[in-house]
Amino acid sequence: MTSTALLPENATDRELITARHLINGEWLGEAGTKRMNPARPGELAALSPSGTAADVDAAITAASAAQPGWATMPAPSRGAILITAGNLLIERQTAIAEDLVREEGKTLAEAKGEVKRASDVLRFFGSLGWAATGEVLPSGLPDTTITTRRESLGVVGLITPWNFPIAIPAWKTAPALISGNAVVIKPAELTPLSATHLARALQDAGLPAGVFNVVHGKGRVVGDALARDPRIAGLSFTGSTNVGLGLQEILNARRARVQLEMGGKNGVLVLDDADARKAAKVVAAGAFGLTGQACTATSRVYVTPGIRSAFLDALTEEAAAYTPGDGMDTDGPDAVRMGAVVSSQQHAQNTAAVRSAVERGATLLSGSAILDETHDGDADRPLFFPAAVLTELPFDDAAVTEEIFGPVVAVLEVADYEAGLAAINDSRYGLTAGICTDSLARATDFAARAQAGVVKVNRPTAGLDLNVPFGGVKDSSTNTFREQGKSALDFFTWGKTVYTGV
Ligand code: NAD
Repeated sequence: MTSTALLPENATDRELITARHLINGEWLGEAGTKRMNPARPGELAALSPSGTAADVDAAITAASAAQPGWATMPAPSRGAILITAGNLLIERQTAIAEDLVREEGKTLAEAKGEVKRASDVLRFFGSLGWAATGEVLPSGLPDTTITTRRESLGVVGLITPWNFPIAIPAWKTAPALISGNAVVIKPAELTPLSATHLARALQDAGLPAGVFNVVHGKGRVVGDALARDPRIAGLSFTGSTNVGLGLQEILNARRARVQLEMGGKNGVLVLDDADARKAAKVVAAGAFGLTGQACTATSRVYVTPGIRSAFLDALTEEAAAYTPGDGMDTDGPDAVRMGAVVSSQQHAQNTAAVRSAVERGATLLSGSAILDETHDGDADRPLFFPAAVLTELPFDDAAVTEEIFGPVVAVLEVADYEAGLAAINDSRYGLTAGICTDSLARATDFAARAQAGVVKVNRPTAGLDLNVPFGGVKDSSTNTFREQGKSALDFFTWGKTVYTGV
């Protein structure tokens, strides 16, 4: 265990891997829930407490008491705390990334990149403490000026998934805090350490007690209590569509603000005029990077007839290069390029999705080991999963329509551009969509007509910049408020118009 930058030098191994609730500036809770390393059977990755409704109540009480003082602190001072916290994350980057690999499974390079992203997000929103937020507008009345202001919501709830266990908490927390809100966050049960590192950085940066609170535990207990508490003025959730839609009903019932970022089934259209090898690299990075465990991952590809064969050959070759293994083994000739699957449940879900597609007649071009019985996960085997390329399957096959959340991509042939665009849009989801083409006209038309919140031209569907809006349409998102970039501030504030006469 290497998180020595975060705890006293004499901390024991057990302390190093123990997450606790953070309520009113105090680390609390009996850490009885074990999280095992998905790449190393039998190795404990983290211990965390399982919170109760009473813990949520205490956290919201602390946040309610701290919020007015925080909101009246000058915005540049609030921003300075976020920037300091961002700097601390970078100082601690390797230690945090190693904890992240142990509890989530991704590669060390990916985890370091994620910690850097969390740091940049804190620094970006911290710098907005100096930015003007309102407008001055003319009035039709004499001697009158109109100004607009953005006011904090108050106490906000955040519920986050395991797949970006520090970046997603950071990209919700930073806009919430710079806007003067206090936060209660419920991180995913599988990844309690990463959110704890974020909390420590904020605390060490001087954030006043009670402004940021963490309650670990089960979604049905802690998440539900958070959503139902009338003191929560807004809830921002990232996770599966089913859970998100249930939370929306709870928040809508009391007309509280809710932001949902949910599932995806992101498609890429590869046209004859594209370079087959480049397109295969774009698709492979989107489909197999992060072990396919990204809401923006590519999971279906439509190819036109002239490039189909060359593209499939190139993609199969790319897939073979995504060696799955322990995310810590990133050096040397056999360096791992794809980390472990997060849980045995997710591993079984990936396996079942591939096997049932093959039983229905699909061809598996890469990842044949998945069909082998010895592949099945059990307590003694690491949760590794090869990159899988499926083809020869119908458009309405479950592997083409339902989110798998693993390194599995289905490739289907379409007659032409119009048929491909229609196939891309024929989905309940609309998070990201991509096109590989050399035609500016096609790319421009696709950007306009693709039903997705993010469109990528000749770039992987996964991978986002932090300074621009992010979110989906259809069942991928509430499609009201965007995350990231300055747009993220809209969810965490409400608008006021002030008429001032002299
Ligand atoms: P999940 O929905 O199971 O869990 C997400 C969070 O919700 C966790 O903290 C969980 O404990 C909590 N939760 C579960 N049930 C709850 C309930 N009844 N009430 C309140 N909270 C509850 O999702 P996951 O398995 O952690 O993450 C994978 C999913 O997240 C995928 O569907 C993926 O597409 C989605 N995701 C979306 C985005 C995006 O930005 N659109 C980003 C990452 C992941």
